[in-house]
Amino acid sequence: MLNKFSCGLFTSDIKNGDIEYTNDYVCDVLDYSKGSLIGLKLNLLFSKASLIFLESYLYPMLLKEHEMFEIQLTVLNTKHERIPITANVKIQDDKLYWSIFTAINRDKLYQELLDIRDQLEQQAEILELKATTDSLTSLLNRRAAIFESEKLINQAYRTGSSLSFVMVDIDYFKRINDELGHQKGDEVLVDVGKVLHEVFRKTDVIARWGGEEFMIVLYDTPFDDAQALCQRLHQNLNSIITLNKPLTVSIGVAVCNFGSGKSTDLMSVLAEADRMLYKAKNNGRNRTEMTCYIK
Ligand code: GH3
Ligand code: MG
Ligand code: MG
Repeated sequence: MLNKFSCGLFTSDIKNGDIEYTNDYVCDVLDYSKGSLIGLKLNLLFSKASLIFLESYLYPMLLKEHEMFEIQLTVLNTKHERIPITANVKIQDDKLYWSIFTAINRDKLYQELLDIRDQLEQQAEILELKATTDSLTSLLNRRAAIFESEKLINQAYRTGSSLSFVMVDIDYFKRINDELGHQKGDEVLVDVGKVLHEVFRKTDVIARWGGEEFMIVLYDTPFDDAQALCQRLHQNLNSIITLNKPLTVSIGVAVCNFGSGKSTDLMSVLAEADRMLYKAKNNGRNRTEMTCYIK
């Protein structure tokens, strides 16, 4: 009768670990001939990890609870292939009473779920990157720049440090497009992005604000340091040669010293940096104009 059940039943002696009875399901699953498991040691059936689990958790719990349900274990067949099982185990009169089911399909489904979760996580990362970066220059896009800059403002206000807000606009960029084509114009934008990465730090917000305009928030940077960094930017951009001339930009900077206890919203300080940028354009381009917005 017990051989007709489609689940595995077996008993083992708790003292010497010998298998004392198995029904045919157990032998079939483990690839043993009928009856041949009797007298073998129970430990032979389990993977190393399952053995550790039995010794450290299952047996102590059984002594306390007398019965454990839905234990996930791995058994090994005669070819040492791993087979996942679910077991209910009961202890009575120095014997363990095991009832087991194979859980191959459950494990397959679980693995599929894990794979799908990994894929979704990867896709979410790609989407996050696409949503926050400018595809041409790989700098932050405007939306992400606003988000990151507002975080910096809050942080600087709390710590009383300085931030410098920098607007950069390429001089006579339209001419590059008109004379060399839009694609060459795009290449110049990529090159400018690389120079921005060279000059500024990882802690700064470096963004393509739109078209041929870039916005940078310099972290923990007071007026003089911002001025020096902008001079370096002018110099480094000169290495980009287009239309037989070094590339030039105009820069507007608004510096905020949050140590004063005053704060500002991002758009107001950027409007001020923009005003400085147009001053730089009007004063002949290829220059930086700065103002201390919060003293
Ligand atoms: P100014 O010195 O006054 O800034 O002159 P400008 O020519 O740089 O400024 P203007 O605003 O007249 O022209 C900007 C040009 O930038 C016009 C537009 O076609 C071009 N542009 C904007 N976005 C892109 C882009 O993604 N790729 C390329 N190749 N060109 C772009
Ligand atoms: Mg412009
Ligand atoms: Mg321009």
